[in-house]
Amino acid sequence: MSVRLPIQRDTVAPVRYTGPERRSRDRRQAPIVEVRPTYARIDAGALVNNLQTVQRAVGLRCRVLAVVKADGYGHGAIEAARTFVDAGAWGCAVSLVEEGVELRQADILAPVLVLGGVHPGSEDVIVHRSLTPVVWAREHLQLLAAAVRRSGAPPLPIHLKIDTGMSRLGALPGQLPELVDWLEGEDGQHLRLEGVMTHFACADEADDSTSPRQLEAFTGSLAALASRGFHPPIRHVCNSAGLVRLPHAHFDMVRPGIALYGAGSSPEVELPGLQMAMSVHSRILGIRELPAGARVSYGHRRELTRPSRLGIVPVGYADGYPRRMSGKAQVLVRGHRCDVVGNITMDVSMVDVTDLPDAREGERVTLLGAQGRDRISLYELAGWADVIPYEIACGISKRVPRR
Ligand SMILES: *Cc1c(COP(=O)(O)O)cnc(C)c1O
Repeated sequence: MSVRLPIQRDTVAPVRYTGPERRSRDRRQAPIVEVRPTYARIDAGALVNNLQTVQRAVGLRCRVLAVVKADGYGHGAIEAARTFVDAGAWGCAVSLVEEGVELRQADILAPVLVLGGVHPGSEDVIVHRSLTPVVWAREHLQLLAAAVRRSGAPPLPIHLKIDTGMSRLGALPGQLPELVDWLEGEDGQHLRLEGVMTHFACADEADDSTSPRQLEAFTGSLAALASRGFHPPIRHVCNSAGLVRLPHAHFDMVRPGIALYGAGSSPEVELPGLQMAMSVHSRILGIRELPAGARVSYGHRRELTRPSRLGIVPVGYADGYPRRMSGKAQVLVRGHRCDVVGNITMDVSMVDVTDLPDAREGERVTLLGAQGRDRISLYELAGWADVIPYEIACGISKRVPRR
């Protein structure tokens, strides 16, 4: 008969830790550990330059609403928002109420537009945090007015979105009379129509016949509002591509996102003078010397055709370095381009440093941005992955610290 012993639970004795922890810049957050050599560098000077470049392009009388949704396109929403507001942006735009609250918690006091609409249950937070909701449905207005009434707050500024052809968010022009009727009613007094907006569907297309038609519908809607006595002071339409391509559509404010981070949706619609704010770097963990004929990484898709030296780099698709770039991507080592060899794995990629006999362990590897005289652009990475530049920037994962 066997005797059942109680399961021995292993425990770890606490050790006084003196390792490479550092306090995050936000003191309310726990200390963070950064030992992995992979990180994204965010150049605040480039963010300032880009805001100023946009401001010059649109003129000083036009406001700039800095779009910092999706964690500032992967650059860190709080730092980006602070930088843009300090550099003269009128305010910031986010997609979600949660993202707006994050900015308020970081003591950013500028106007914060919430682009994604008013979800039931979010109205009290919107009022409490003084967020500026983008609205397009009667339900939005009802929810918000009730929340303002409950809180006793002054009328809440709102921006009305009109769907002129994107077929996504916004009221169709035909729905405006109903909304205006509501705003003229008793509950409408709790809201203040500060802005009207629409969004381009094709401003970055080479052959864009859509934007002029959207603009026509927008000015038609403005006239309809004016005929009912509504003259919202902030009319805004242009995203980054729009502000480059359609200078007559700047109105009172522009809403750039990607331009502020230093790119365009494609090189053709990039505003001249921008600087890429994000670069991504790592280091070679170790060097592997392999004979011709050796096969590399999962699936053994790649066979070496010559005796090779492979640098092992701790970056993978879990960091937002897309696996589908395998066999196409390049990185910079000692200012030279090196091919990524074999499949990119979750945490590690292999790069061919055979032509750099001096490359050794600890060597700096640049995956995005400049090193020496060469640079890997966001467009190049996007091309290798067959995605748009936005997806690369937003996709650099939380696991990669921003410095
Ligand atoms: C994301 C977004 C923008 C910014 O677009 P970019 O192409 O990055 O300049 C502007 N307006 C709205 C409504 C958006 O959702």
